[in-house]
Amino acid sequence: DHERRTITYDGSLKKYPPVRLLRNCDRKRILVTGGAGFVGSHLVDRLMIMGNEVVVLDNFFTGRKNNIEHWLGHPNFELVRHDVVDPFMIEVDEIYHLACPASPPHYQYNPIKTVKTSVMGTINMLGLAKRTKAKFLLTSTSEIYGDPKEHPQKETYWGHVNPIGPRACYDEGKRVAETLTFAYAKQEKLDVRVARIFNTFGPRMNENDGRVVSNFIIQALRGEDLTVYGEGDQTRSFQYIHDLVDGLIQLMHSKAHEPVNLGNPDEYTIMEFAEIIRDTVNKEVRIVNLPSTTDDPQRRRPDITRAKTFLDWSPKFSVMQGIEETVEYFSKLANDL
Ligand code: NAD
Ligand code: UDP
Repeated sequence: DHERRTITYDGSLKKYPPVRLLRNCDRKRILVTGGAGFVGSHLVDRLMIMGNEVVVLDNFFTGRKNNIEHWLGHPNFELVRHDVVDPFMIEVDEIYHLACPASPPHYQYNPIKTVKTSVMGTINMLGLAKRTKAKFLLTSTSEIYGDPKEHPQKETYWGHVNPIGPRACYDEGKRVAETLTFAYAKQEKLDVRVARIFNTFGPRMNENDGRVVSNFIIQALRGEDLTVYGEGDQTRSFQYIHDLVDGLIQLMHSKAHEPVNLGNPDEYTIMEFAEIIRDTVNKEVRIVNLPSTTDDPQRRRPDITRAKTFLDWSPKFSVMQGIEETVEYFSKLANDL
């Protein structure tokens, strides 16, 4: 493992995180759509450190340059502002297709655009994979199981989704994205992977993201009430970002040609989770109940037998470890402002 800490590029000196030096024939050219977002930027870090060439495509709807600014100017790194709804031409070996808003307030902001991003964006990236013969990985979601009637959720479960509710643009969009991915695999012999990601959290979540972990941590740090939607008896299982990144890379390198759940089976009611955040971050804050949201899934926990069997993967971080690091990140962010 070689380190290359200081590189002169455009005449200036900049310190980059150390990356592995690979021979040209061993280095892959990897496209990460949505690479300026929360999950994408962590994936980019890992792929860069492994010594690959990484191209990020992002329209900055929810992503930020800040998340990847430590790589700007690095010879192995390229950032392109581009909307995946429009075709894109490039030569690559692997595509991690993440581009899509993921938090309910963001994907519901413009539902038509969310569907276009999932459907047209995925067709464009699959077309690119077909032309370049690149391996293709789609980040799908536990939301394709909807409000599940089977618990925990196995990959064989077909789901229970309201096709016209407020979450449909995301859930049905991802369902079609999966359909397209497997249609291209069958019809065009594409080499594809599909990750069904369960709730994931960590540093670099957008402060305005609106998902429960960042909301509760930010509220507790600001001394505001923690907002539980409904009674708080609905459940979620939370995975820390570094485990997900391991899982995505292991999935790409595996022979798993069927969808694979990636999540931490550690399940909490939202009320229990609010109490944990209050007790860890700020015991002074209150927990308040707000009206529940439409079609909110009542229970969610992954069955990860398939990931264990085919990828030899299971989460390594406890939820508490993840919370501690995420709290540290948001506290620092608040102090820097
Ligand atoms: P995020 O909102 O932080 O990142 C999404 C990224 O995609 C952003 O950088 C955004 O600017 C970009 N983007 C959105 N629309 C685009 C478009 N039309 N063209 C180009 N770029 C576009 O969300 P995230 O949590 O990082 O999610 C990343 C992926 O993982 C998404 O596909 C999401 O569905 C999936 N996922 C995430 C979770 C989770 O808990 N974080 C759970 C399930 C699935
Ligand atoms: N939630 C909540 N308060 C918040 C944000 C979310 O009680 O401030 C609830 C939400 O109703 C859902 C759960 O937390 O039951 C997870 O919501 P999130 O938006 O994080 O993800 P998703 O619903 O997509 O799993």
